[in-house]
Formats: sequence, C-alpha cells, structure tokens
Amino acid sequence: MGGLDLRASLTTILFMRLLRFGKKGQERPGVITEQGRVLDVSACGYDYGEEFFCQGGFSFLEDWLLRHESQCPVVNLNEHRLGPVVTRPSKVIAVGLNYRAHASETGAKVPTAPKIFMKATTAICGSGDDLLLPEGSEHTDYEVELACVIGRVCRSISQEDALSAVAGLTICNDYSERDWQKNWCGQFVKGKSADTFCPLGPYLVRATGFDFDSSRIWLKVNGELRQESTLSQMVFPLDRLVAEISRHMTLLPGDVISTGTPSGVGLGFEPPRFLRQGDWVEYGIDGIGETRQQVTCQKSHD
Ligand code: ZN
Repeated sequence: MGGLDLRASLTTILFMRLLRFGKKGQERPGVITEQGRVLDVSACGYDYGEEFFCQGGFSFLEDWLLRHESQCPVVNLNEHRLGPVVTRPSKVIAVGLNYRAHASETGAKVPTAPKIFMKATTAICGSGDDLLLPEGSEHTDYEVELACVIGRVCRSISQEDALSAVAGLTICNDYSERDWQKNWCGQFVKGKSADTFCPLGPYLVRATGFDFDSSRIWLKVNGELRQESTLSQMVFPLDRLVAEISRHMTLLPGDVISTGTPSGVGLGFEPPRFLRQGDWVEYGIDGIGETRQQVTCQKSHD
C-alpha cells in the first residue's frame, strides 16, 4: 500500500463508527466511515460482543481494515434495519438521578454516590425499532442517556484508568414504566426491563477524543423538544461511574452502563405526559448520532 493510500485509510479509521445491521437476531457487524460509506465487516470473524472487545474492539478492527477494507461489501443502510450496537451483554447497568435538574423534577435529592440499578438484557433492541408499550402500561416514559460499552474486564478500576477501559459510547433510551418502577413493590428493575425498553445505537463511537463537556443531549416527542442538556451537567462523570460500579461487581467486555438522563422526562410535567401509541420519539447526542422510534402497542406486535 502506498503512503497516500495508507493515510487515507487511517483517516477513515480514526473517525469510523460501528453499527450492526440486519433482521432481529441476524444482525451483522458493520462500520460507517468518515465519508459515510457503510461496510460489512463480518469477515473479521467477530460480532460486537465480549470476544470482539477482548480482542481489542476498535483497535482490532482498525488493524483488520488496513488489510481488508477493499474486500468488505458496501452496505446500503436504506435497505436494512439497524440493530443494537452490541450483542447481548452480561449486564446493563443504569444510573439514576445523575443530572441535578432531573433529580429536582422528580422531587429527589441529588445523590452523594452513584445510584445504580439493572435493566434486563432482553430489553435491548435497535435504536430505530418501535417502542412497544407493555400491555396494561399507562405510564411509559422516555429518558435519553449517554451509554458506554466496557472494553476489558474491570474489577475495582481506578477513576484515573476508567476511561481507558471504555470501548465506546452510544445512546440508550432508558424507557421506564413509572408506575411499575415506583409502586409495584421492590426495585426499579420492574419498570425498566420490558422488551424494547433499552434501544442501543445508532452507532458506537470511540471514547478517546470524545467531547464530554459540550456535547448536547436532546430528545423530542412528536417534534416538541422535551429534554436538552450537555453531558457536562452529569453529577458523576463517566470515569467516576465506571470506577465506582467496578468496586461493586466485575464489569465484562461488552457490558453497558447507561449514565442517567437530563430533566424533561414525562414524569416531570404537571400533569405528567407519558407516551401514547403513535407518538414519535426522536433523540440524539452530538458526536454519536441521532435516531427516532415510534410508539406502538405490545398487542399489535404479537
Ligand atoms: Zn435512566
């Protein structure tokens, strides 16, 4: 490969984003280059799960692409569904009340340590998939959040080293059934785990070089802006979250941490404004991407 070609490829790689495309359960790994070309990289031998991240994730794929980019099939994304950006992880951990204004709209105090809970991994879906309102649900709410994917095994990692253990960043909409979350006895997990309550995507981007200070995070319902903030408003930054969570459990490559939502959730309105069948939920984070989902009834999907 000549010097010029090599430089061109390196530029492509530095800004590449990962995605998964295809029917539910049959997704294939892909990359989107800085120029917007989408390539099928299934020939690299890994889907984006634990083994892929153990192999080095982005770095592994960079090396592989330097040798194989020209042989990768080009994908027309208009013809494919986008799947979740990772295969099913060992766990999804979410962080509650991590923006001051959101804590105050829910009537809660700002936590003095990260408040964490789990979401079932069966709730994971593609970022453009329909949100299915669970049967009997009248209080389903949205929460746009920055999510990270862990890149290596972490046990009691220091805050200083924590970002180096993050493989990449994506967006999670931490959908929540507020009645089930609060009033059905027990933990948040009941209201956080219905099928489709954890879309992940549209892309996975590198954490290295990401602008955690000024990146805007936003969400609209039917075109109306409901949530808008910057990631700098997080109470506990990402490195603190990863360090703290890894003190309490082992984080495996591919695990997902969703880092909390800004103010503007449906619960915060008086009266509350929960999601209804037919609503469109659009959201995004600067530097990662944006997506939209339609709200449908569980029954219409059975
Ligand atoms: Zn949340």
